[in-house]
Amino acid sequence: MTRDDSRIRQLGQALEAAERILFITGAGLSADSGLPTYRGLGGLYNGTTAEGLPIEAALSGPMLQRDPALCWKYLAEIGRACHGATPNAGHRAIAELQARKPGCWVLTQNIDGFHRAAGSPAERLIEIHGQLAPLYCQACGREAADAERRLAGPLPPRCDACAGVLRPPVVLFEEMLPVEAVERLRRQQAIGFDLVLAVGTSASFGYILEPLLRCRTAGGFTVEINPATTELAAWVDLHVPGRALDVLPQAIGHISEQ
Ligand SMILES: [Zn+2]
Repeated sequence: MTRDDSRIRQLGQALEAAERILFITGAGLSADSGLPTYRGLGGLYNGTTAEGLPIEAALSGPMLQRDPALCWKYLAEIGRACHGATPNAGHRAIAELQARKPGCWVLTQNIDGFHRAAGSPAERLIEIHGQLAPLYCQACGREAADAERRLAGPLPPRCDACAGVLRPPVVLFEEMLPVEAVERLRRQQAIGFDLVLAVGTSASFGYILEPLLRCRTAGGFTVEINPATTELAAWVDLHVPGRALDVLPQAIGHISEQ
């Protein structure tokens, strides 16, 4: 048995033993579905747009107000990439575990909706950065149907009723996190988790790192699943070097059927 095999077996044992489980997922999980990270969007050079802006400025709340066409140029690129991709075996393994473990939750930074598409129950899924659909009008609040068609049309897409600029319910840079999602996370953290796993994320935001640290402080077990070694290495009990779509189905395969 190789060292990596023994880590996957150890992960399987941890998943089997735990009842309160939190998966924290980030861009690395969806990259395995072929999605670019926002820094990997086309037309960027070292994270700078053709307009000479950092991509974080182009995809910011203030830019959507000041220059909606520019912000939408990159939003639409993300949207088209998501419409062209599907969840992978990592998303499906997490959803399968949630079906078997009623205390298993997902906190995701991803806006692609792949956890929902893979079958994660909405009531145990916290999309902390929002989602790409449905588009709604910033002026009158009306929802717009057929987001996919609008991404292929003139940008920015506009409201059929009032011609206001449409936007997706995502959290852009410099915008607040959705209150409802933050509150759900807070309530679940108060109950506590005995196993927290960071999957394809370096968890650089405080609200992503905090659940790991809390779990550890309370005597729980923490895991990182990532092909790379990240700054989280110091904070986890087990690092499984690999891609979630390979590692998670194998680890769950070690859990005995009940
Ligand atoms: Zn409108």
